[in-house]
Amino acid sequence: MSRLEKYREIVGDKVIKEIQEKARDLRGKHILHINSTYSGGGVAEILDSLVPLMNDIKIVADWRIVHGKPDFFTVTKKFHNALQGDSINLSERKKQLYIQTNEIFSSYTNINQDCVIVHDPQPLPLIKFFEKKQPWIWRCHIDLSKPNGDLWKFLSDFIIQYNMVIISNKNYKKNGLSVEQRIVNPAIDPLSTKNKEISDATISKYLRKFGVPLDKPLITQISRFDKWKDPEGVIDVYKKVKTKVDCRLILCGNMASDDPEGLEIFQKTERKARSLVKKGDIILVREPASSNYIFINSLQRKSSVIIQKSTKEGFGLTVTEALWKGTPVVGSNVGGIPLQMTDGENGFLVDSWDAKGFAERIIELLKNPDLANKMGKKAIESVRKKFLITRLLSNYLDLFNHLLFR
Ligand code: UDP
Repeated sequence: MSRLEKYREIVGDKVIKEIQEKARDLRGKHILHINSTYSGGGVAEILDSLVPLMNDIKIVADWRIVHGKPDFFTVTKKFHNALQGDSINLSERKKQLYIQTNEIFSSYTNINQDCVIVHDPQPLPLIKFFEKKQPWIWRCHIDLSKPNGDLWKFLSDFIIQYNMVIISNKNYKKNGLSVEQRIVNPAIDPLSTKNKEISDATISKYLRKFGVPLDKPLITQISRFDKWKDPEGVIDVYKKVKTKVDCRLILCGNMASDDPEGLEIFQKTERKARSLVKKGDIILVREPASSNYIFINSLQRKSSVIIQKSTKEGFGLTVTEALWKGTPVVGSNVGGIPLQMTDGENGFLVDSWDAKGFAERIIELLKNPDLANKMGKKAIESVRKKFLITRLLSNYLDLFNHLLFR
């Protein structure tokens, strides 16, 4: 059975037929995705499923990863933070390191595909080093609602060379940018190890294997240790919840090779959680468990509530993943999270700074399994309608048809 066929049961005949039709003229076309890490974070998660699916429908799709030394990723993480609103000292050294790393990468990379998709800021300047013979798309996954002005100006010189910019939310659109901007929502793969159905026995086995006891309800945040995911704020929320309902907090985070701040944020979180970790109330989960996809799947299914207390969030695949499993989510009303949830319907939205509000919603769900159940059912349907990988594939096919045949 082809890879695409396997989704028929989940998404229905119409969706599969539509994809096959849209793919017809694109067969044999070569598409290249470029990003900066093969694991950790939402972009790698998407490409892991999307690239093989493109190949399955006979588009010739490649995925390459920009190479860089640690100081390159230190700079690009600062760019990431500044695009999400931080200030930055945009020195000549940073600019040069950024551009030179891309130039070096271009010297051993050939690009002769029919369309190039560059993900996020790390490989953005690559376009400068190639003769542009095909459409180039810049796909930005970051929360661009309030980027730092200086950085945006610097990056704009590269962005305007692209044929199209793709963002996740209409609030990230930039007035005055001379490039066509389109909104495409990320999506999850319902058949991946992380999202497929698994038995209760497997869930229990994996949670025990990685040291998560099952004697109390679990409330969980699964996210890179990143300041924008506010793991310390989650601890404050937990302390409030714990005064009303006995439960355990799991903070699970993996490291992405393009995010050098992970260790520092983990250590800060660990310091803040220390006494509660000692008592067994909080469990901090890192590698290898956090990169074990059956474990993540199990944690998302077994948790009574999934928290996503981000202060900025491009989209938030962790939210999609939890909703798809019917686990209620209490998330911040920022970035891509409200695209996925309607407050009180398929989850709860709370202002990101409002620890008390988070705690109240979590307590409500812990005390009211019927409500949690009802929300969970709606959550599954909300993901089925809009955020499965077949939808993302279909959107890309529209873009390719538009860019390659207009
Ligand atoms: N993830 C994981 N283990 C962790 C933390 C995160 O596998 O310990 C995965 C998570 O399941 C999701 C992705 O990393 O698939 C994170 O994507 P998201 O869009 O939520 O955030 P990003 O890291 O891209 O900002």
